Amino acid sequence: MAGLSVRSVLVTGSNRGIGLELVKQLLGKSNPPQWIFATCRDPEGARGQELQNLVSKHPNLMMVKLDAVNPASIEEATRRVEEQLDGSGLNLVINNAGIFSNVSLATVDSEEMLSAYKTNVVGPMLVGQAFLPLLKKAAQGSSQKGLSCSKAAIVNISSVLGSIERIPETFFKPVVSYRCSKAALNMLTRCQALSYAEDGILCAAVHPGWVQTDMGTQEADLPVDESVRGILAVLPTLSEKHSRSLWSWAGKTIPW
Ligand code: NDP
Repeated sequence: MAGLSVRSVLVTGSNRGIGLELVKQLLGKSNPPQWIFATCRDPEGARGQELQNLVSKHPNLMMVKLDAVNPASIEEATRRVEEQLDGSGLNLVINNAGIFSNVSLATVDSEEMLSAYKTNVVGPMLVGQAFLPLLKKAAQGSSQKGLSCSKAAIVNISSVLGSIERIPETFFKPVVSYRCSKAALNMLTRCQALSYAEDGILCAAVHPGWVQTDMGTQEADLPVDESVRGILAVLPTLSEKHSRSLWSWAGKTIPW
């Protein structure tokens, strides 16, 4: 299988967990991207330390401040990326930032529901809107036929917990706000795919597996490096048809 070959990529929430591992594995590729934009909420703070160390070793890595619930911060991030790309487009946006809360219908309140929705759905929507001109530019500048992650794409990191069809098999935890937000993210992905296809932009949702991160806990099935190796192997296989369901890190389709 051909690996992912992409000129520029932006990953949200990349200071820890799956986002950080995506950045590390992209940097370690034999054909790394010319530009990796690793976004996080607090690049200067302790939470950004590991990324800061990577930046000092890799001139193709740039840290960019981006808070997915703050439209002004997303706009500012767009300006910085555009400046760095110096007239080129951005090929791939990975909406990875997300939050999780273990609440049931008995304990969830409106604040928690809205917070999950804001980060997990509104954030990816705003990021997609803000980077659309740069994604369009990448698509227009490409001679590739069809839609692909190396040409221009938005990949939303979703979850099987948002799948309505899969709920009987996986309902081991209620996690109501998270499930509802990821179901909405799946719908957003479908809407983005339908809206942005005419601009040459692929939009897909990927489930990373149950992964050993702060969110997934150490009880999870998958080490983070294995999940991310899987995701990076799946990305180059994605095409138009992959916007019709959720795709797992192992390349399997998951019904919405
Ligand atoms: P972590 O909790 O380990 O990391 C979450 C990341 O998202 C952190 O970098 C965090 O930044 C960032 N983030 C949270 N809120 C915001 C915000 N408002 N703006 C910008 N960044 C933000 O989670 P994972 O790495 O495990 O999860 C990554 C993605 O994968 C999420 O979308 C999650 O839903 C999804 N996923 C994870 C699974 C798992 O088992 N781990 C399973 C299925 C899906 P900060 O450090 O500043 O808080």
